[in-house]
Amino acid sequence: MRKIAFIGTGYVGLVSGVCIAEFGHDVTCVDIDQSKINDLNQGRIPIYEPELESLLKQNVLKERLKFSSNINEAIKSADIIFIAVGTPQSEDGQANLTAIENVAKSIGENLNQYKVVCTKSTVPVGTGKRIETIIKSINDSIEFDYVSNPEFLREGAAIKDFLKPDRIVIGSRSEKASKIIKDVYRPLYLNETPIVSTTVETSEMIKYASNAFLALKISYINEIANLCEKVEADVHVVAKAMGKDGRISPKFLHPGPGYGGSCFPKDTEALVKAGRNNNVPIRTIEAAIQTNKSQKLRMVHKLDRLMENDMKGKTIAVLGLAFKPQTDDIRDAASRVIIPELLKKDAIINAYDPIAMENFKIFHPKINYFKNWEDTVKNADALIILTEWNEFRGLDLSRLKSLLKSPVVLDTKNILSINQLQLHGFTFDNVGRRFSQ
Ligand code: NAD
Repeated sequence: MRKIAFIGTGYVGLVSGVCIAEFGHDVTCVDIDQSKINDLNQGRIPIYEPELESLLKQNVLKERLKFSSNINEAIKSADIIFIAVGTPQSEDGQANLTAIENVAKSIGENLNQYKVVCTKSTVPVGTGKRIETIIKSINDSIEFDYVSNPEFLREGAAIKDFLKPDRIVIGSRSEKASKIIKDVYRPLYLNETPIVSTTVETSEMIKYASNAFLALKISYINEIANLCEKVEADVHVVAKAMGKDGRISPKFLHPGPGYGGSCFPKDTEALVKAGRNNNVPIRTIEAAIQTNKSQKLRMVHKLDRLMENDMKGKTIAVLGLAFKPQTDDIRDAASRVIIPELLKKDAIINAYDPIAMENFKIFHPKINYFKNWEDTVKNADALIILTEWNEFRGLDLSRLKSLLKSPVVLDTKNILSINQLQLHGFTFDNVGRRFSQ
């Protein structure tokens, strides 16, 4: 059993901290956000993530998991410090490392015995060295080792992903530290989870290369979808057949309104920036970013067309605000671009999301929010679906038609049956399946 501190108790820090407590370690999750820590100490979970609440409560009961805002104390009493603070995008596209550097300073100031410092946050190549330099510049007398251990969990399936990862990446110069981190993951290691042991720099690069590749795959299928619309092809059949090819795989070949979330947009930008800084342009990812931006606007044009270029004063029902189902995260969600565009055209927005509305209200307090899909679409002039929550997949189309003022639907997630939409007499569009039967 190790004494572990997680610095940063967000989507990654909280999920990882809970799961590592579940492995039997003594975990303290710390955060500078006192209200988050207060909530957690009172049994309120600040984020929505399936299976998180019960696992968290079990581990608190077993006294393996606690929450604190005392970062100094948590560092002093830990053998291993995991850094899981945010690395948002700066204005110039690079990752903003302010929180990382602040944590490194705190570690330097509170280093009282040998510790392993391990970064889970997504950080550009070279950050590990920078963290080591900061710590050493404050305390050069006490030994520590540095490990890069990027996280690959997906929000909405984070617990499952953490407990059953495709691989664990451990980057370090120190064999001793690599072994200690490997040991933290012992239950997974015994489960034959592949472990990639490498250098810090390679480990940092693996994370960006992986995320950017997935973003590229999404932008690629979106462009194929856009072409399918023009040439009477069905992108779903194209993607399905492509996915049968083992070299391609069916994953991340789902067309839609463009990728979003807290990772792909900022990580692709950071990789492009790193490429430019090193005179190695990453043109494929530059293109993927541009495609992604225009895909979101393409959805606005599609809806405009469906509504005969007349949105002024019209009510548009929006189903889905989160960047994907099973999360309350709205960071860089398609809704964050599309809704402001619709508002610019003087449309009135009725919105509903099963989980993410409270987060969305912070940015758009004045649009209309409803508690269910029926009230959201009632008397609306059109419906746009932006997140593929299961409850939208099974929409009762006769009821939908009877509630809408005009039977106009833009299904940006391709979750409704084209046959059924046709049968019910909707005016509709989707992404890449205009000519399907
Ligand atoms: P988040 O914004 O949900 O959480 C970050 C937390 O760090 C916040 O609670 C914040 O208050 C806290 N924090 C900031 N500065 C701090 C400090 N000095 N001391 C203590 N706490 C501090 O972010 P996240 O989504 O958990 O992402 C964290 C990192 O993990 C990022 O680098 C991200 O790219 C990476 N990542 C995220 C995901 C994901 O799906 N969210 C997946 C893999 C990797």
